[in-house]
Amino acid sequence: MDIKEYVAYRKEELRKEIAMMDRPPKLVIIKANDNPASASYVRGKLKDADEVGIDAELIELDPSISQKELDKKIEEINNDKDVDGFIVQLPLPNQIDEEKVKLEVIPEKDVDGFHPCTKFLPCTPKGIVDYLRHEGFDFKGKNALIIGRSNIVGKPMARILLEKGCDANVTVIHSRTSEEDKAFYIAHADLIIAAVGKIGVLDGHYAYKKDAVIVDVGINRGEDGKLHGDAMPSLPVKLQTPVPGGVGLLTRISLMENLVEAKKRK
Ligand code: NAP
Repeated sequence: MDIKEYVAYRKEELRKEIAMMDRPPKLVIIKANDNPASASYVRGKLKDADEVGIDAELIELDPSISQKELDKKIEEINNDKDVDGFIVQLPLPNQIDEEKVKLEVIPEKDVDGFHPCTKFLPCTPKGIVDYLRHEGFDFKGKNALIIGRSNIVGKPMARILLEKGCDANVTVIHSRTSEEDKAFYIAHADLIIAAVGKIGVLDGHYAYKKDAVIVDVGINRGEDGKLHGDAMPSLPVKLQTPVPGGVGLLTRISLMENLVEAKKRK
């Protein structure tokens, strides 16, 4: 199944599950930026929520909000018994401490999976693993290469792939990795996850295993005004996820799944 078909199937499953519940699960999205990309991600999440029957509320705060005011808002939602899960859409304005905010959302409602004690898997790595499993990819003993070591994608991806159940051999590379080493790791990888945020991180000049899978997390606005991934299109591998219409959709469906799980655990 391609990602669009898979997501449509998962949405239908969620819709049926939610229809059987005593009330729709409630999601709150706090947005405190005027970033156009962020606005488009939020629109996507609201659309998905609507399609599966989740009650979603967007709270837009002024980007000049102080840390104290935002802390108060988060505490209010933490204590609101009607809210099953909530997210604070990134990026946050400069005056706000993003790491502090991640710790303020209580783990029971942290459907983004950012808190160290969260009850949920972070949405992007969860979406990727769920999709590849559905496609029959067997992670056990496979060489997984993650390009990028961010706290929201690269590091949690590495942890999940290492855990029992996945049992992959995991390598993480980053901006300080030499070009020679990068080419070596790419040539030996069965699974490559590119999460950098630069067009052309993977291109045709590298040697790939012919059965390799490339998962492209990157979302980059090109000079042509269009969205591009980190990988150049149509590389000589078995499967390469598209951008747009790839990992972004998997991330969104994971958020909805985490929310349904939060409601069930309550
Ligand atoms: P980030 O926090 O900026 O991290 C980027 C990582 O890439 C860093 O670890 C950096 O290394 C590494 N890097 C930079 N240049 C490199 C190079 N030339 N070769 C190898 N590694 C390099 O970014 P992020 O938040 O993880 O996001 C990455 C991309 O994924 C962005 O395009 C973002 O928009 C996208 N994204 C998409 C989704 C989705 O749902 N599709 C979700 C989240 C993010 P250092 O640590 O050494 O600086």
